[in-house]
Amino acid sequence: MEIEKIYKENGAYLHGHFLLSSGNHSEYYLQSAKVLENPALAGELASQLAGVIKDAGISYDSVCSPALGGILAGYELAKQAGKRFIFTERVEKIMSLRRGFEVKKGEKFVICEDIITTGGSALESAKIIESLGGEVVAFAALANRGFCAVANLGNSRHESCKLPFDKPLFTLGNFSFEIYEPNSCPLCKNGSVAIKPGSRGN
Ligand code: ZN
Repeated sequence: MEIEKIYKENGAYLHGHFLLSSGNHSEYYLQSAKVLENPALAGELASQLAGVIKDAGISYDSVCSPALGGILAGYELAKQAGKRFIFTERVEKIMSLRRGFEVKKGEKFVICEDIITTGGSALESAKIIESLGGEVVAFAALANRGFCAVANLGNSRHESCKLPFDKPLFTLGNFSFEIYEPNSCPLCKNGSVAIKPGSRGN
Protein backbone atom coordinates (compact mmCIF):
# COMPACT_ATOMS: atom_id res chain seq x y z
CA MET A 1 0.00 0.00 0.00
CA GLU A 2 1.17 3.51 -0.83
CA ILE A 3 1.27 5.39 2.47
CA GLU A 4 0.94 8.87 0.91
CA LYS A 5 -2.16 7.76 -1.01
CA ILE A 6 -3.67 6.33 2.18
CA TYR A 7 -3.08 9.57 4.10
CA LYS A 8 -4.66 11.59 1.25
CA GLU A 9 -7.65 9.28 0.87
CA ASN A 10 -8.38 9.43 4.58
CA GLY A 11 -8.16 13.20 4.95
CA ALA A 12 -4.92 12.86 6.92
CA TYR A 13 -2.68 14.82 4.54
CA LEU A 14 -3.81 18.35 5.27
CA HIS A 15 -3.12 21.32 3.03
CA GLY A 16 -3.10 24.86 4.48
CA HIS A 17 -0.78 26.93 6.62
CA PHE A 18 0.14 25.20 9.85
CA LEU A 19 1.96 26.15 13.03
CA LEU A 20 3.91 23.04 14.10
CA SER A 21 4.74 22.15 17.68
CA SER A 22 8.38 23.06 16.91
CA GLY A 23 7.25 26.65 16.21
CA ASN A 24 7.95 26.30 12.47
CA HIS A 25 5.38 26.67 9.70
CA SER A 26 4.36 24.24 6.97
CA GLU A 27 1.98 24.08 4.03
CA TYR A 28 1.12 20.46 4.94
CA TYR A 29 0.30 18.55 8.08
CA LEU A 30 0.02 14.80 8.68
CA GLN A 31 -2.92 13.95 10.93
CA SER A 32 -2.31 10.22 11.54
CA ALA A 33 -5.34 9.98 13.82
CA LYS A 34 -7.50 10.24 10.67
CA VAL A 35 -5.87 7.09 9.28
CA LEU A 36 -5.86 5.21 12.58
CA GLU A 37 -9.52 5.97 13.35
CA ASN A 38 -10.18 3.03 11.04
CA PRO A 39 -9.07 0.00 13.09
CA ALA A 40 -9.10 -2.38 10.11
CA LEU A 41 -6.81 -0.05 8.14
CA ALA A 42 -4.61 0.50 11.20
CA GLY A 43 -4.28 -3.28 11.55
CA GLU A 44 -3.42 -3.69 7.88
CA LEU A 45 -0.69 -1.01 8.03
CA ALA A 46 0.73 -2.41 11.28
CA SER A 47 0.76 -5.89 9.77
CA GLN A 48 2.85 -4.57 6.85
CA LEU A 49 5.18 -2.79 9.24
CA ALA A 50 5.59 -5.98 11.31
CA GLY A 51 6.48 -7.76 8.06
CA VAL A 52 9.14 -5.18 7.16
CA ILE A 53 10.76 -5.56 10.60
CA LYS A 54 10.59 -9.36 10.38
CA ASP A 55 12.08 -9.39 6.87
CA ALA A 56 15.02 -7.37 8.21
CA GLY A 57 15.72 -10.19 10.66
CA ILE A 58 15.03 -8.10 13.78
CA SER A 59 13.91 -10.11 16.80
CA TYR A 60 12.20 -8.32 19.70
CA ASP A 61 10.01 -9.03 22.70
CA SER A 62 8.03 -5.83 23.08
CA VAL A 63 6.94 -2.54 21.54
CA CYS A 64 7.05 0.81 23.34
CA SER A 65 5.53 4.06 22.05
CA PRO A 66 5.63 7.66 23.22
CA ALA A 67 2.13 8.91 24.07
CA LEU A 68 -0.11 10.18 22.60
CA GLY A 69 0.58 9.97 18.90
CA GLY A 70 2.50 6.72 18.92
CA ILE A 71 0.10 4.65 20.99
CA LEU A 72 -2.33 3.51 18.28
CA ALA A 73 0.42 2.60 15.80
CA GLY A 74 2.53 0.88 18.47
CA TYR A 75 -0.37 -1.04 19.94
CA GLU A 76 -1.39 -2.32 16.50
CA LEU A 77 2.20 -3.27 15.68
CA ALA A 78 2.46 -5.26 18.93
CA LYS A 79 -0.88 -6.92 18.23
CA GLN A 80 0.07 -7.92 14.69
CA ALA A 81 3.53 -9.16 15.74
CA GLY A 82 2.30 -10.94 18.88
CA LYS A 83 4.37 -8.78 21.25
CA ARG A 84 3.82 -6.96 24.53
CA PHE A 85 3.01 -3.24 24.38
CA ILE A 86 3.82 -0.41 26.79
CA PHE A 87 3.95 3.36 26.42
CA THR A 88 5.83 6.30 27.88
CA GLU A 89 4.15 9.64 28.53
CA ARG A 90 5.11 13.18 29.43
CA VAL A 91 4.62 14.28 33.01
CA GLU A 92 5.29 18.02 33.20
CA LYS A 93 7.30 17.73 29.95
CA ILE A 94 9.50 14.88 31.25
CA MET A 95 9.04 11.57 29.39
CA SER A 96 8.22 8.88 31.98
CA LEU A 97 7.19 5.24 32.31
CA ARG A 98 4.14 4.96 34.58
CA ARG A 99 1.04 2.82 35.18
CA GLY A 100 2.98 -0.11 36.62
CA PHE A 101 4.70 -0.88 33.30
CA GLU A 102 7.95 -2.78 33.83
CA VAL A 103 11.00 -3.51 31.69
CA LYS A 104 12.90 -6.78 32.14
CA LYS A 105 16.67 -6.86 32.00
CA GLY A 106 17.68 -7.61 28.41
CA GLU A 107 14.11 -7.32 27.10
CA LYS A 108 14.30 -6.30 23.44
CA PHE A 109 12.18 -3.37 22.29
CA VAL A 110 11.07 -1.72 19.08
CA ILE A 111 10.14 1.94 19.67
CA CYS A 112 7.11 2.77 17.49
CA GLU A 113 5.70 6.16 16.46
CA ASP A 114 2.95 7.11 13.99
CA ILE A 115 5.28 9.55 12.18
CA ILE A 116 8.99 10.02 12.81
CA THR A 117 9.88 13.68 12.32
CA THR A 118 13.22 14.32 14.04
CA GLY A 119 12.63 11.34 16.35
CA GLY A 120 12.94 13.33 19.56
CA SER A 121 10.08 11.67 21.48
CA ALA A 122 11.06 8.20 20.22
CA LEU A 123 14.61 8.80 21.43
CA GLU A 124 13.35 9.86 24.87
CA SER A 125 11.32 6.65 25.11
CA ALA A 126 14.35 4.61 24.06
CA LYS A 127 16.47 6.21 26.77
CA ILE A 128 13.92 5.27 29.44
CA ILE A 129 13.79 1.65 28.23
CA GLU A 130 17.59 1.43 28.26
CA SER A 131 17.89 3.10 31.67
CA LEU A 132 15.68 0.30 33.03
CA GLY A 133 17.85 -2.47 31.57
CA GLY A 134 15.96 -3.06 28.32
CA GLU A 135 17.58 -3.12 24.89
CA VAL A 136 16.25 -1.01 22.00
CA VAL A 137 16.89 -2.94 18.78
CA ALA A 138 15.03 -0.72 16.27
CA PHE A 139 12.69 2.20 15.66
CA ALA A 140 9.52 1.98 13.59
CA ALA A 141 6.78 4.29 12.31
CA LEU A 142 4.00 4.25 9.75
CA ALA A 143 5.88 7.00 7.90
CA ASN A 144 9.05 9.06 8.01
CA ARG A 145 8.88 12.86 7.65
CA GLY A 146 11.97 13.05 5.46
CA PHE A 147 14.59 13.84 8.12
CA CYS A 148 15.75 10.39 9.27
CA ALA A 149 17.29 7.57 7.25
CA VAL A 150 14.94 4.60 6.80
CA ALA A 151 16.67 1.20 6.68
CA ASN A 152 14.15 -0.36 4.28
CA LEU A 153 13.83 2.71 2.00
CA GLY A 154 17.42 3.87 1.72
CA ASN A 155 16.83 7.65 1.91
CA SER A 156 19.53 9.89 3.36
CA ARG A 157 19.71 11.35 6.86
CA HIS A 158 19.24 15.07 7.57
CA GLU A 159 21.28 16.68 10.34
CA SER A 160 18.13 17.40 12.39
CA CYS A 161 17.43 13.66 12.86
CA LYS A 162 17.94 12.74 16.52
CA LEU A 163 17.75 8.94 16.26
CA PRO A 164 20.96 6.99 17.03
CA PHE A 165 23.11 6.07 14.02
CA ASP A 166 23.52 2.46 15.14
CA LYS A 167 19.84 1.42 15.25
CA PRO A 168 17.66 0.95 12.17
CA LEU A 169 14.39 2.80 11.49
CA PHE A 170 11.66 0.98 9.55
CA THR A 171 8.65 2.75 7.98
CA LEU A 172 6.07 2.16 5.26
CA GLY A 173 6.93 5.37 3.42
CA ASN A 174 8.56 8.74 3.39
CA PHE A 175 6.88 12.17 3.26
CA SER A 176 9.10 15.01 2.18
CA PHE A 177 7.83 18.60 2.28
CA GLU A 178 9.29 21.94 3.34
CA ILE A 179 9.00 23.47 6.78
CA TYR A 180 9.79 27.15 7.33
CA GLU A 181 10.98 29.30 10.16
CA PRO A 182 8.24 31.88 10.81
CA ASN A 183 10.31 34.84 9.57
CA SER A 184 11.11 33.14 6.24
CA CYS A 185 7.71 31.50 5.64
CA PRO A 186 6.42 32.23 2.11
CA LEU A 187 2.85 31.61 3.26
CA CYS A 188 3.18 34.33 5.92
CA LYS A 189 4.69 36.63 3.27
CA ASN A 190 1.49 36.12 1.23
CA GLY A 191 -0.48 37.43 4.19
CA SER A 192 -2.05 34.26 5.59
CA VAL A 193 -1.84 33.29 9.26
CA ALA A 194 -0.54 29.90 10.43
CA ILE A 195 -3.02 27.87 12.46
CA LYS A 196 -2.36 25.13 14.98
CA PRO A 197 -3.52 21.77 13.55
CA GLY A 198 -6.68 20.65 15.32
CA SER A 199 -7.84 24.16 16.11
CA ARG A 200 -10.34 24.41 13.26
CA GLY A 201 -11.78 20.96 13.13
CA ASN A 202 -8.71 19.50 11.44
ZN1 ZN B 1 3.84 30.92 7.93
